[in-house]
Amino acid sequence: MENVILIRYGEIYLKGLNRPFFEQRLMDNVKKVLEDFGDVKVKKGQGRIYVEGIDNIRDAMDRLTKVFGIISVSPALKTDKNMAAIENGIRVVMEDAMAKYGVDNLTFKVESRRSDKSFPKNSMELNRELGAFVLREFPYVKVDVHNPEVLLSVEVREWTYVYHEVIDGAGGMPVGTNGKATLLLSGGIDSPVAGWMIAKRGVELSAVYYHSVPYTSERAKQKVIDLARILSKYSGPIKLYVVPFTKIQQEIYTNCPESQLTILMRRFMMKIAEEIADQEGAKVLVTGESVGQVASQTLESLVVTDDAVDMPILRPLIGFDKIEIMNIAEKIGTYDISILPYEDCCTVFVPRHPVTRPKLDAVLKAEGLLDGETLIEEALDNLEIIEI
Ligand code: ATP
Ligand code: MG
Repeated sequence: MENVILIRYGEIYLKGLNRPFFEQRLMDNVKKVLEDFGDVKVKKGQGRIYVEGIDNIRDAMDRLTKVFGIISVSPALKTDKNMAAIENGIRVVMEDAMAKYGVDNLTFKVESRRSDKSFPKNSMELNRELGAFVLREFPYVKVDVHNPEVLLSVEVREWTYVYHEVIDGAGGMPVGTNGKATLLLSGGIDSPVAGWMIAKRGVELSAVYYHSVPYTSERAKQKVIDLARILSKYSGPIKLYVVPFTKIQQEIYTNCPESQLTILMRRFMMKIAEEIADQEGAKVLVTGESVGQVASQTLESLVVTDDAVDMPILRPLIGFDKIEIMNIAEKIGTYDISILPYEDCCTVFVPRHPVTRPKLDAVLKAEGLLDGETLIEEALDNLEIIEI
């Protein structure tokens, strides 16, 4: 009898010919998150992945529920395929359930599945005999076939697996199966959530943070690093580019009409991110913008922002309310860091009356007052790369 983790995966089923590729990628990602657990075995079964050789099952489960592509996980007992071994397994799993839920009026049901048809008992027989076994062993529990508190699952496959818990995974598709994107990652609430949503669809991330020393502090930068670290628990390793942005902001501030500051800054951000994305082999940019949230996120502003680059800008939060974004941030664990009160670069050079409906020709004219190319080159020459 051995403690294992059983992993169910979902959407990759749909992928026909690509399925082996998706499964392999998921297995690799599972191995990667468990690599510091010692001698762990990750094995593929029929439509399942099994993890064996784990001492700290709860820690491992916590990591696995963040791996995209996984629908659910169960801590399970792997036993031999004979009734005595299965009954032993059932006893241990039932004891675990009782430790969790207490024994008062506890109800249960056995649900067996036999994929190995050579096993001499069918699932009906298994349910009946194992149910009777539980009642003999634990005379104070009752059967409830409709709404049991404990669903004892028994799967007779290559081995037999017995478990009672099914814990939701993060869903989505395995990271690495849908190309690469570059995320504009600020210290705010929105952009980590936007990155999470794109990574959930199987996209690998790199990230860019615009840092405005001395207007933004070392702590503001550390906050972004901390956010990237949380994000990386889902997305895998992230290369974070920290780009010095002060000079660009000062140049805009000194030379251009105040009302255009924000939109000009947004365009510079996109242009620099596009260069970095190119180097990274990323095909798209990702931001945390949503329609109308602030002056720079009106449809007109988004259009003028898009004009700055050739690369598509994905905005997965485009139709979300702030409260919905905050809920996801809470769920994925970025919220508490995002609300730490460190200044972000955009609050430093905020115009008193930003244009809410920028006109492209006016913006281009203002931009023409600057030597954009040189400014961008200089920023790229002085960036810092942090491997997360
Ligand atoms: P967030 O909560 O993600 O900071 P926000 O609501 O504060 O978003 P803005 O500050 O207008 O909105 O930023 C819009 C988007 O631009 C952000 O979601 C992020 O993708 C990007 N962005 C803003 N500031 C920075 C920065 N300093 N570095 C990198 N990206 C940034
Ligand atoms: Mg912000």
